[in-house]
Amino acid sequence: MKELLRALTSRQSAERRRVICDWLNRWQFDFEVERFTSGNLRGANIYVPPEQEMQKVVVLSAHYDGPGAYDNAGGVAALLLFLKNCRLETRPISFSTCFFDLEESFQAGSRHFCTTRTRDGLIERAALISHIEIDGCGIGDRLVRFHNVRHLRLHRGRHFLDVPFTGDSLEFQNIGIPSLRLTTLPLREATILIRKKVFPPTWLLLHTARDRLSLISPETLHRTAAELGPLVTRPQRAKKASIVLHSSDWRSNA
Ligand SMILES: [Zn+2]
Repeated sequence: MKELLRALTSRQSAERRRVICDWLNRWQFDFEVERFTSGNLRGANIYVPPEQEMQKVVVLSAHYDGPGAYDNAGGVAALLLFLKNCRLETRPISFSTCFFDLEESFQAGSRHFCTTRTRDGLIERAALISHIEIDGCGIGDRLVRFHNVRHLRLHRGRHFLDVPFTGDSLEFQNIGIPSLRLTTLPLREATILIRKKVFPPTWLLLHTARDRLSLISPETLHRTAAELGPLVTRPQRAKKASIVLHSSDWRSNA
C-alpha cells in the first residue's frame, strides 16, 4: 500500500498513470486510456467499462492529476482497492470506473468524458443514472457525502468563505446526472462542517506542499473502499443538494 501511494504521489503524471494501469492489468481489468486535448493542455483519462452489458450504469471516479496525497492519491488508491475487492469477490455490480486527468484544470478530463463518451461510445447517456467520486481521502475517520453540491458558503474564523465546489462532480451535474462526492475528514471537522458550516482545517492542505503521504491512513482508505459497494448498488437518484455524515463506525480508527 505504501508503495502504491508513493507512486500515486509522484510529480510525474505519466508515472501516476502507469501505476493505475499496472494495477488494472494485475487484477485483469479491461481498460482504455483515452488521450484528449483541452486548449493547450493534454490529458489522458483511464476508463474501465462495466463488466456486463447493463441497462443502468453508475460511474465511479477519482481524479489522478496532481501529486497531492489526500487530494487525490488517497481517492485513487481507495478506488483501486475497491476494484480489487470486486475482482476477488466477483460481485456483479453495474458500474464503470474512470480515473480522470486534469480535474485541477477546470475538470477538463471529466468534461471530455461527459460531453463525448456519454454521447457516442462507452456509455449510453440514457443508461447513466448516477455518479460517485472520491476526492480527498485518507485523512480522518469519517466519510462525508456531498450530494449534488455546487457551492458552499462556510465560516472561517469570523469571516464567510465562498467555496466554489468545483470538481468532476460538477460536470456530471451539468449533464443532469445526480452526483455524490465522497471525502474523508476527522469526526470533529466533519461534524462542525455539517452542523455549523465551518470550513474544515484539513482543507487548508489542499493544493499545498503539505498534502503529503505521511498524513494518509491506509486504514481510512480500506474503509472507504469497503463503503463503496453499498453506495454503488443503491445509487442515489435524487438531485437535491445535501451534505451527510456517512453512518459507519470508524471510531476505532481515530
Ligand atoms: Zn481533488
